[in-house]
Amino acid sequence: VSFGFRSVPADAKESMVKEVFDSVASKYDLMNDATSFGVHRLWKDTFVSSLRPGRKGPLKCIDVAGGTGDIALRILDYARENYADRETTVDIVDINAEMLKEGYRRFKKTMYHNTPQIAFHEANAQIMSQFPDNTYDIYTIAFGIRNCTSIPDVLKEAHRILKPGGTFACLEFSRVNNPLLNALYDQYSFSVIPLMGTVLAGDRDSYQYLVESIRKFPPQPEFAQMIRDAGFSTGKDEDGGAWTELWGGIASMHKGVKV
Ligand code: SAM
Repeated sequence: VSFGFRSVPADAKESMVKEVFDSVASKYDLMNDATSFGVHRLWKDTFVSSLRPGRKGPLKCIDVAGGTGDIALRILDYARENYADRETTVDIVDINAEMLKEGYRRFKKTMYHNTPQIAFHEANAQIMSQFPDNTYDIYTIAFGIRNCTSIPDVLKEAHRILKPGGTFACLEFSRVNNPLLNALYDQYSFSVIPLMGTVLAGDRDSYQYLVESIRKFPPQPEFAQMIRDAGFSTGKDEDGGAWTELWGGIASMHKGVKV
């Protein structure tokens, strides 16, 4: 398949992204481990453990672009292990039924299967009309927002469905500012990842797209401003309140509180 990545119109982007994730769904977890040497697991652990400092009570969470459920599973495990909390719930939302199916299969093997703690929903992050206003304590989106056609629409919907005081938290690839690290990272991304895509998943184009989409995503200060423009309050950029960089900015965690 060739997707003609470089200048894709907005609605074509949506079907292209769907095709990419249809194609990678069954190999998604394996490829994540291979391309990041398992580091995505550490980032996700850090992300999830930062979500509810001191918040003991059960929380209503929504994990958007949740894919195969990596974040949702961690949220539930974290709640149980650290707060003996078996009442926190996570709604997993994804535009792609194949990714959700993989997630469902995976949850079937866990203690959360068939409990009110987890539910799966097929929906577009930009149009969340099935979810009412002021519903959630925590909204997460990990490695998903860069695939959405309109980031402002995603943020607007996140703001609408969060309760006042609720937290928006995004984990996403970001900009590496150190030139040496950036050169190494570029080399790795543009040659090694598409090659792994070919060898391990038989799909170079999808992995090439994923790498290019990372480079097109706004840099940290610009994304933090978009979060504020959607009505969230963030800490100050300069004192590290608006985002936290992981591994020199290869990924960043951005947070905002609904005011
Ligand atoms: N959050 C998971 C994780 O961290 O492992 C999955 C990340 S995966 C790289 C990106 C996910 O975003 C895919 O499952 C894809 O189907 C989903 N996605 C892309 N565009 C979307 C949209 N507009 N609305 C909802 N989900 C979307």
